[in-house]
Amino acid sequence: MGLFDSEVIRQGDMELMQYNDDNAFYKIIHKQIQANVVLEGEHFIAFHDIAPRAPVHILIIPKGSYIDYHDFIERASDIEILDFHRGMNQVVKLMKLRENGFKLRTNSGKFRLNDEGGQEVMHMHFHILGKPSEA
Ligand code: AMP
Repeated sequence: MGLFDSEVIRQGDMELMQYNDDNAFYKIIHKQIQANVVLEGEHFIAFHDIAPRAPVHILIIPKGSYIDYHDFIERASDIEILDFHRGMNQVVKLMKLRENGFKLRTNSGKFRLNDEGGQEVMHMHFHILGKPSEA
């Protein structure tokens, strides 16, 4: 295997990791489709999942174009990362999830765990899942 072959492999990897803006969350950010937004900040939007799997199921996404968590942490600015994580905590408070507990989950790529699928929408997002307290 010569230099040429490894370059091809490298090019292939980069193609795999190319952000494709033909995805639902990019369209939500750019107002091409609607979402039921609960909170928006300078660098994030949080909205209800279209197919909720918990009494409260919110998705939070960065406004920048990042494929998955790894891509986000590698390329986003400190301000974007901080704003996103503070936003996630604000959603927890807003949706009253602290008392009963909650789950934060991000899927990256094809990895499947038991009957749970991999990443379907290739724009980085966290799921915020929980049951609100009455108060
Ligand atoms: P994941 O498997 O982690 O990529 O999850 C993608 C999530 O996005 C799923 O829970 C879907 O129900 C949700 N979803 C897909 N399209 C939309 C949309 N237009 N608005 C809100 N949620 C969506």
